[in-house]
Amino acid sequence: MITVDLFRDRALALFGLGGSGLATAEALAAGGAHLRVWDDAEAARAAAAARGLEVVALGEITWREVEALILAPGVPLTHPEPHWSVRLAHAAHAPVIGDIELFARQRRAEGAVSPFVAVTGTNGKSTTTALIDHLLRAAGRDSQMGGNIGRAVLSLEPFAPGRTYVVECSSFQIDLAPSIDPTVGILTNLSPDHLDRHGTMAAYAAIKERLVEASGTAVVGVDDPLSEEIASRVAAEGHPVVRISATRALADGVFADDTKIVEAKDGAATVIADIAGIGSLRGRHNAQNACAAVAAVRALGLEAGEIAAGLATFPGLAHRMEQVGRKGRVLFVNDSKATNADSTAQALASFERIHWIAGGKPKDGGITALDGFFDRIAKAYLIGAATEDFAATLDGRVPFERAGTIERALELAAAEAAADAAAEPVVLLSPACASYDQFKNFEVRGDHFRALVQAIPGIEGVSA
Ligand code: ADP
Repeated sequence: MITVDLFRDRALALFGLGGSGLATAEALAAGGAHLRVWDDAEAARAAAAARGLEVVALGEITWREVEALILAPGVPLTHPEPHWSVRLAHAAHAPVIGDIELFARQRRAEGAVSPFVAVTGTNGKSTTTALIDHLLRAAGRDSQMGGNIGRAVLSLEPFAPGRTYVVECSSFQIDLAPSIDPTVGILTNLSPDHLDRHGTMAAYAAIKERLVEASGTAVVGVDDPLSEEIASRVAAEGHPVVRISATRALADGVFADDTKIVEAKDGAATVIADIAGIGSLRGRHNAQNACAAVAAVRALGLEAGEIAAGLATFPGLAHRMEQVGRKGRVLFVNDSKATNADSTAQALASFERIHWIAGGKPKDGGITALDGFFDRIAKAYLIGAATEDFAATLDGRVPFERAGTIERALELAAAEAAADAAAEPVVLLSPACASYDQFKNFEVRGDHFRALVQAIPGIEGVSA
């Protein structure tokens, strides 16, 4: 745990006692803060009380004394409207901050001996974060990974010289971190997302821009117009910027030339690695993630050889085009994280011949946006509440079958893929839907699919 001792004997309020809220409360309590905590859920309050935290209705405390409200990132700060605890803090002129802000302040207070890599963007955050952590570890560095992925940031190991922290930051977390100052800050890409929480695209982009502006080195994807503008503005202000692109050659920066990751610097272009054949990094989107990770670890001093070796052993993340088994020529892929058509598009673009398991709780627009990939789909096996909606879109264009459940869909797809003459038929679970109609969440759906695949007689594991 990182002990936060910046508020010793001073009064703080904390709202939101989920995993990261509890970890934050413990880090502050260990540092001697006078901390009062609350959550609207009874069970969360009970968990906090059981850990010895002081659970008090925040409406009843003396806000004049409170130095800051520590807010969990899932709690509305501004949109659709400020949470009641935020209103109380504003009325008392107390700042509202989150765990990443505490992490950044404590890091400075301890001399900033530990490099800090912050990763944000609309898509690819987790993959890029995990890849950077993997590359650092593969090169023998001491790396700690957390934030929006895995462990809460304040539950990571204490600061130590040379220990690098790779932290995934959602826009909500950056919003609550006004003094965030990463050694390397990464913006992968920007597209409309979470506008319910940030109001407008401009507000959402401004939050991401603040992160890269405050970074020692900014790594910015320039494959979408908003991020490209941000890169130009931040560079014009005199900050060091490394541009990355998965779609075009750059005179200066890191880009993907097909599957080669190239670093262009001072008029010379060097191939750092080739990701062809690395199953966990298939697809153009992963080339973008790889460019971002390579740029980051280059800024931290890794050599090309170390990076190439690390890329080759990246295991990838569960539920994101995760290769869960192979039987003969047939590859089985779990992409349960794809809960909308945009994400499924990345997977469909990554394989040539697809036996596609899709469906669940449908999102607006369904799969109409995916018609550019229909010629890759040998057959679709439809499950869950989206069945009739998807059937109507596919009718007359792609063969499909109403399978109902994942079990039945996999049974049909595995048999038909085995009889498919293609070089590598792929059985792909990429639902383009939320999971709630049949599963608790996308992780449970993906775990279930993986277990079913692994139970197929004769199935073999797949290495990175
Ligand atoms: P995040 O953490 O930002 O949600 P992940 O790395 O978990 O992103 O990837 C989630 C899904 O988003 C992937 O399964 C893929 O479909 C898509 N994706 C990943 N990286 C990118 C990227 N660089 N550009 C576009 N889409 C991406």
